Amino acid sequence: MALLHRVTHDRAVYEAAWNSRNSYGWRLPFGEPMESDFLAYYAERYREHMTLGLGIGALAMLLSVFEDFFIPVGERNFPLFIRFGLVLPAVCLLFILIQRPSLARWQQPILMLSTLGGATAFLLMAFFVTSSLGRIYIDTVMLIQIFGLVLLRMQFSYAIPSVLMIIAGASFALLRLPFSGSVHDHLIGLMLITFAGLLCLVANYLIERSVRSDYLQQRLLEFRQQDLEASNSNLQKLLRSDALTGIFNRRHFDNHLADEFRRAERANYPMALLMIDVDYFKSYNDTYGHQAGDEVLAGVAQTLATFARRPGDVAARYGGEEFALILPGSSEENAMVIAEEIVADIYAQNLPHKSSRISDRLTVSIGVASLQPDGMKQNEAALIANADQALYLAKNTGRNRARSWSSI
Ligand code: GH3
Ligand code: MG
Ligand code: MG
Repeated sequence: MALLHRVTHDRAVYEAAWNSRNSYGWRLPFGEPMESDFLAYYAERYREHMTLGLGIGALAMLLSVFEDFFIPVGERNFPLFIRFGLVLPAVCLLFILIQRPSLARWQQPILMLSTLGGATAFLLMAFFVTSSLGRIYIDTVMLIQIFGLVLLRMQFSYAIPSVLMIIAGASFALLRLPFSGSVHDHLIGLMLITFAGLLCLVANYLIERSVRSDYLQQRLLEFRQQDLEASNSNLQKLLRSDALTGIFNRRHFDNHLADEFRRAERANYPMALLMIDVDYFKSYNDTYGHQAGDEVLAGVAQTLATFARRPGDVAARYGGEEFALILPGSSEENAMVIAEEIVADIYAQNLPHKSSRISDRLTVSIGVASLQPDGMKQNEAALIANADQALYLAKNTGRNRARSWSSI
């Protein structure tokens, strides 16, 4: 079913309706704005139904032409004219109109008018036929009633006036009929139409009630599904992120690195990795406290995240005060440029670190490596090891700097 435009997305409204559906008593309508949404849903749900119904109606109109052959030759013309000149074109027109989604809100009025139109047509046929066989047309009205109300799913609020008008029309026709026939016969005919109408109404009511109940359940299920999807994507996010810094965690780093390696191998481009370590962080903790240390780690992480600029780039917390930046498609040279930008960026932030042995502020050291994947399983481990060695070199050559593996 096409996605419907909905007026209300307030789940509380639906939950309240569901919880109180037993106390609704005999009432069918939900009340606005839920009712508007339901009507749109109803029209959508039964559009095919109505299309099929009108098709069958047209066919039945054609087939029931045999009725006309019970009528004396001189009187057939009028029923034939109504059948083919009025009703059939009208049904064809409705058949076309009902396909238009924009007319969905007119579905029920159209259905009611079609049913009443069909009934009127047959009553007219009976009216202008003097033969007592004209009764056959009046009895046909009963079938039209069942057809329109039950088969085509007329809503209860339209079904009541429809049935009343059909009974009134049939009574009028039977009373005024020019053809002969006993009052008995006419009364029996009227009773049948009336009882059929009442039965249709009961069926109609019960059907609509359960359709409404289905509708409520379906909407509530949709809400629950939305909840599940939201909590699922939340969990996915949690699973990938580091609680302290908010950037990606080690688990995601491992998965992402493996994925990117496969991609790089297929597309034949290099994989670069930056290993970033905060300088003299142990003494930072000792000087400013563990909590201040945590805050600094979160800040460094946020800075790193701004350097993951291209799709596929990932900044992650590798462990403790070590971070990693994956740069798919970067040569060692390009990665070095970014590493030096990071070193300069952290330095420029001028975060005081008085117990650092190389500076008055917080600094980082970075090891850079890049390699062309060749499908070997050791590729990932080699890249990490190379970046690690480069980091070791950066540490040993004064910290607050970036070093590449090939410079070793
Ligand atoms: P270097 O310049 O050689 O990297 O010296 P360092 O002191 O930074 O290195 P070391 O490996 O000796 O110390 C790392 C410190 O990082 C030790 C640990 O207390 C601290 N650390 C690791 N994880 C966390 C954390 O989540 N929060 C805080 N506040 N500190 C952490
Ligand atoms: Mg350190
Ligand atoms: Mg370390």
